[in-house]
Amino acid sequence: MPADDYAAVIRADKRPVGQHERQFNAPTIDEVAIVIVGEEFESRDIILHRISGDIQRVSETHRSYDGLQYPILFWRGDDGYNFNIQMINPQTDEGTNKKVSAMNYYSYRLLIRQNAENHILKCRQLFHQYIVDMYAKIETKRLLYIRLNQTELRSEQYIHLRDAIVNDGNVNPNELGRMAILPSTFTGSPRHMHQYAQDATTYVRAYGRPDLFVTFTCNPTWNEIKELLLVGQSSSDRHDITARVFKQKLKCLMDFIIKHHVFGETRCWIYSIEWQKRGLPHAHILFWLINKITPDQIDQIISAEIPDKHIDPNLFDVVTKNMIHGPCRAFNNNSPCMSDGKCTKRYPRKLVSDTITGNDGYPLSRRRSVEDGGKSVVLKVRNIDIEVDNR
Ligand SMILES: [Zn+2]
Repeated sequence: MPADDYAAVIRADKRPVGQHERQFNAPTIDEVAIVIVGEEFESRDIILHRISGDIQRVSETHRSYDGLQYPILFWRGDDGYNFNIQMINPQTDEGTNKKVSAMNYYSYRLLIRQNAENHILKCRQLFHQYIVDMYAKIETKRLLYIRLNQTELRSEQYIHLRDAIVNDGNVNPNELGRMAILPSTFTGSPRHMHQYAQDATTYVRAYGRPDLFVTFTCNPTWNEIKELLLVGQSSSDRHDITARVFKQKLKCLMDFIIKHHVFGETRCWIYSIEWQKRGLPHAHILFWLINKITPDQIDQIISAEIPDKHIDPNLFDVVTKNMIHGPCRAFNNNSPCMSDGKCTKRYPRKLVSDTITGNDGYPLSRRRSVEDGGKSVVLKVRNIDIEVDNR
């Protein structure tokens, strides 16, 4: 390419038309990300200039790539991933004829081991760069496999998809021959998303509206996370721990509901995990129960009220610490929920003496006044005491 001057401008306020409103919000914490433009996969190779003046190209799948790219992490020039690492059978310690994938290899490198130091985990931003870089390598390998195995993946049969792409009008049909089709097994691909959306709408068609919509968030101060942080680290230095603890806790919650029948027997469920712009994961889960929840059971399952401090002190602590909206409006006009002098989340809500169930599946939860037996709590916000009630 001639030596033209190009300027790449990243504008936080620009987002594609018709996309989810908050999907493209800028992150609020420092994160390391990688942007790979187009199909120039070779551009990630390292070029070595020899003293003789020759140059040598080192591809990202070469065993020396990691050592050359991260001399501070691998100062002894340790080998990184390559195609020829043999899988070992853990029972017999003998080699198998399977190869270790890039995913297997880098998961192994990131693990915390007892009695063995893993210095990579101490490197903060460089550790992040290493993870992101190696993940790009993993995904490049997967994409390469898909591109080279289109016949085995029967992509020819995805006729409807091909038609849709042609009809889109943005694609030059002459380029279609080069196009590789991503199968639904490729996480995040359009076919993958479409398949889940189809599953969800099928559940609704067959079983009606879901009975429970559960949001499960990640708390960076969970003990399981704090205990594993090394000296001087915060949870944002260790996305590996946050992601693993969240996954385990989510699995526990799902078992609690599905296997231990906390809300009765479940018929089916579906969930999706998203990453908040604060770098933390959360899950939205839908449950369909065998026995539908009746209106008189709702108050036993869902509460929008402040719990009684004396009956359940733990729940009281969690709710007053994490679940109270705001303060917004007059107390804090700069709260992110504020727009045109109003709270977009509609707080404070109206007091409601009894739960009202509508036919739309959105019950209006009970929020009793203090006179009616509701609880209130005094919260300290910027050294000002604010009394908060069920509204
Ligand atoms: Zn608000």
